[in-house]
Amino acid sequence: MTDPAVSADARLVHAGTERRTGEPVVQPPVLSSILMSAGEPSAADYGRGGNATWAALEQALGAIENAEAVVFSSGQAASMALMLALARGRDAILLPGDGYYNARVLADRLRPHGAAPVLVDLQDLAAVDRALAAADGGAVLWAETPTNPLLRVADLVALGRLAAAAGAPMIVDNTVATGLLQQPLDLGAVASLCSLTKSASGHSDVILGAVMTRDAALAEELRSWRSLGGGIAGPVESWLAIRGLKTLPLRIERQSATALTLARHLASHPRVRAVHYPGVNADTLAVARAQMPRGFGPLLSFELDGSAADADAVVAAARLILPATSFGGVESSWERRGRWAGETAPDSLIRLSVGIEPAADLAGDIDQALGRP
Ligand code: PLP
Repeated sequence: MTDPAVSADARLVHAGTERRTGEPVVQPPVLSSILMSAGEPSAADYGRGGNATWAALEQALGAIENAEAVVFSSGQAASMALMLALARGRDAILLPGDGYYNARVLADRLRPHGAAPVLVDLQDLAAVDRALAAADGGAVLWAETPTNPLLRVADLVALGRLAAAAGAPMIVDNTVATGLLQQPLDLGAVASLCSLTKSASGHSDVILGAVMTRDAALAEELRSWRSLGGGIAGPVESWLAIRGLKTLPLRIERQSATALTLARHLASHPRVRAVHYPGVNADTLAVARAQMPRGFGPLLSFELDGSAADADAVVAAARLILPATSFGGVESSWERRGRWAGETAPDSLIRLSVGIEPAADLAGDIDQALGRP
């Protein structure tokens, strides 16, 4: 089902389904590492080159962003393939200093085969422009918005213009928003990266990643890195992700609405020093509304007026919200982000992933954990 006249939400629900009598409505996962073949070999003869279940997942993801999708065994495997695919002939990869910390760590570890990481503040357009100009050997702009965990919003149209003028491909890590809420390829990005582990699959039961692009040569290069490097998506994980994706519009709209309610609720609490959420950060609200018209996503963070130990105690006091990492699942979870080595978030910052539970239940749990006066 690829009828472009039908909305992306509807195409998502039907992706991978063959409209033929006798075909299953839900395709089962293809658990075969080899296919029968004779004569001319094809990449899909061997499971590292192709699998019908991941092809159906790619169809669903491609429908959301009107692009080719290439799925990988994790978001990090997708990032690695993308960093390596774009590094040839480019010396620098500009990454946000406040984005997902393992992207920075990975870029650093990919030397000498990858481009050298240069940290930039994506909200400081003059600084980005200077960093692009300084990379006279060519650069990649690796944007992320909203960032994890500070939920800072970058202006993709403005960044895309700077990148294009410098001849640098712009990549957007779109994991927090997903293609449902934000379409980086329409805003100047060459590729949009998504850890499907989060909202896209939505049930905290798979690790997967994907790159979406309208550049056929880049998609082919990514597939080649995938089959040579072996970072392939398993059929069972792909099948679970397809199942999760069908309800992504319902989940993320509810989660976004609840997250906005909770961000406002937290902002009025005397123990909370700062709340980070695109829907309440006045400085970037106009940009956020323009590039995320359907909602601001399930992730927010807040800084406790207190120590790391105080924040740990709040996380432990929850009765409903789970003490766990990651985000985008149907179950709400939170963690003190600074507990991870390599993370640069403030010590008392708690990152909350808002699930699909009713907002009132979550607000009640937050209040009892914080000790509302
Ligand atoms: N990008 C962002 C923004 C993330 O938060 C993560 C994981 O937390 C990744 C990429 C990496 O994804 P994965 O854990 O699926 O490898």
